[in-house]
Amino acid sequence: MSDTQRSGAGASGEELLSLDATELARRLHAREVSSVEVTRAHLERIEAVDGDGGGDGVHAFLHVDADGALAAAEVADRAIADGGPVSPLAGVPIAVKDNMTTTDMPTTCGSRILDGWRPPYDATVVGRLRAAGLVPLGKTNLDEFAMGSSTENSAFGPSRNPWDLTRIPGGSGGGSSAAVAAGEAPLALGSDTGGSIRQPGAVTGTVGVKPTYGTVSRFGLVAFSSSLDQIGPCGRSVLDAALLHEVIAGHDPRDQTSVDAPVPPVVEAALAGARGDLAGVRVGVVSEFAGEGYQPGVSAAFTDAVRVLGELGADVVEVSCPSFSYALPAYYLIAPSEASSNLARFDAMRYGLRVGDDGSRSTDDVMSLTREAGFGAEVKRRIMIGTHALSAGSYDALYGKAQKARTLIVRDFTAAFETCDVLVSPTTPTTAFRIGERIDDPLAMYLADLCTIPSNLAGNAAISVPCGTSADDGLPVGLQVMAPALADDRAYRVAAAYETARGESTGPRIPELRALEGSR
Ligand code: GLN
Repeated sequence: MSDTQRSGAGASGEELLSLDATELARRLHAREVSSVEVTRAHLERIEAVDGDGGGDGVHAFLHVDADGALAAAEVADRAIADGGPVSPLAGVPIAVKDNMTTTDMPTTCGSRILDGWRPPYDATVVGRLRAAGLVPLGKTNLDEFAMGSSTENSAFGPSRNPWDLTRIPGGSGGGSSAAVAAGEAPLALGSDTGGSIRQPGAVTGTVGVKPTYGTVSRFGLVAFSSSLDQIGPCGRSVLDAALLHEVIAGHDPRDQTSVDAPVPPVVEAALAGARGDLAGVRVGVVSEFAGEGYQPGVSAAFTDAVRVLGELGADVVEVSCPSFSYALPAYYLIAPSEASSNLARFDAMRYGLRVGDDGSRSTDDVMSLTREAGFGAEVKRRIMIGTHALSAGSYDALYGKAQKARTLIVRDFTAAFETCDVLVSPTTPTTAFRIGERIDDPLAMYLADLCTIPSNLAGNAAISVPCGTSADDGLPVGLQVMAPALADDRAYRVAAAYETARGESTGPRIPELRALEGSR
């Protein structure tokens, strides 16, 4: 790289794509580069590698708003030029998972049932992005209504992992993480109900954060499982995620579950972690998250990450959380139960699709035909499981028991956090699997969430940070750092210290995508 490029003057489009959001923001503020240039470089990148969903591209996006993005970029450039106070991420492009409402773009949730629906309001987080001068590029692909672990349940075709286009980028927010990994966006928003930010982060070699439940407004997030859903940041570095976290977090009276508490100082923690060691930090390795079902290369990368934490001065101990073994079955009763109720609103009258409304049919029949045509197989499976779990004859044995298991999991966390500041585990038991490999086996698909779900059930904070690649297939592995509720900063500090000690950039994996660029 020449000195001119390094200083930013005349930075090439490709160089801009490999920078993290922190460095982009620095150059934008120093006026070494304009937001219009940065935005244009990302739009060109999307054009080059995203494809049209037909199977040859990353397909991270369901909708790209080039005109809107360039207009927002111009506004950010003017604000920076005016010299007034602008937020740290002003002018930086971002991708938004397509289950958050936007007035200027469609919101599909990856479902046919929302065909043609235009939300009349922006989600609070989208409003916050706009107010902070970030530049929304478009809406990213997801498993239908965020139900899945691979994006294969999207009605619009799967996204592909930029590391290997035959593999899944995780889910449900695979589009957001794939966009960040492929250099299509430096930042993205995801939502995490059972792992949908962290698991895609792990398998695409990017950072993904589930903040403490209730600390980021869900107003305008299309509800899946309301006691679990949480919006959070995706980025290429821990500090990038922290900067975005502080833009989106904070109390919102329009979300009745919003916590009215100060936002944990996550940027300060990420900076402190990157600068300092972990002397005196008590790190608990969850002993249940190992052994059978864990890919050897994943276990090896995780063990090495734990060694690094020890070298940084952390006191590493093993902790047992025996009730975590109930997390998966409990989640797959609680989440579908809440989904079956939340998805009742798609009644053919209020939103999007309406099938068979020719005057000859009853309202019930139109509703039934619309839901039959509009929902995909996994969504129907969840509605059936949830409706059954909540029915009078099964409620105590299924839903009730799952709630008791949830309480035991919360108690395990409480006990573990009495002796540990953070807990760590692999984020996922395996690396990215092949597209099609698990689609006919829901249980195998659900296993992808084994390590991420406990934090959703308990509501605490958790980060996935890249921890190298698996020796058996060369694909990325994620280290999960879990912290108590409202102590998100602890997870950021440990993740940032680890990231800095590892010292490897998590920039976009451009080589795999060269062929695609060449073919266009
Ligand atoms: N994969 C999990 C599920 O299918 C989690 C999804 C999510 O976090 N949105 O429910």
